[in-house]
Amino acid sequence: MEYRIGQGYDLHRLESGRKLIIGGVEIPYEKGLLGHSDADVLSHAITDALLGALALGDIGTHFPDDKPEYKDIDSLLLLEKAYSLVLAKDYIINNIDCTIQAQEPKMKPYIQQIQKKLAEVLGIELNQISIKAKTMENLGPIGEKQAIAIHCTALLKK
Ligand code: ZN
Repeated sequence: MEYRIGQGYDLHRLESGRKLIIGGVEIPYEKGLLGHSDADVLSHAITDALLGALALGDIGTHFPDDKPEYKDIDSLLLLEKAYSLVLAKDYIINNIDCTIQAQEPKMKPYIQQIQKKLAEVLGIELNQISIKAKTMENLGPIGEKQAIAIHCTALLKK
């Protein structure tokens, strides 16, 4: 068995008048994430971790944010496309582990739903995708509710 590990990080600014979509799940909140796509910060970080594991560049290389076809696009589609590149190289996901950094809203009630959605999109079991969440103790731009960030690690096997 050959293994490759990848790391993904993403951050989006919180603004009013936008939907808050995390891992393909719409979360009710007074603000949402700003971006060219649907700004699904979690899907973006996982996409980068998958691409990074095989040194295939990053999300911006494959899906440039100045292309009209990616405007408001469902980022799960980008994640699916990135995973198809991984599969084409005969690798599959061993496991993914992510941490959401958000001061608000509370992520806990949505974690299971997010996990289920991502497992479904990637065709993996629930125990292969871990989603954790923490606040920033009110510190910095994330703690001041100006942004949400994600850290993600993905292990692939061949
Ligand atoms: Zn992003």
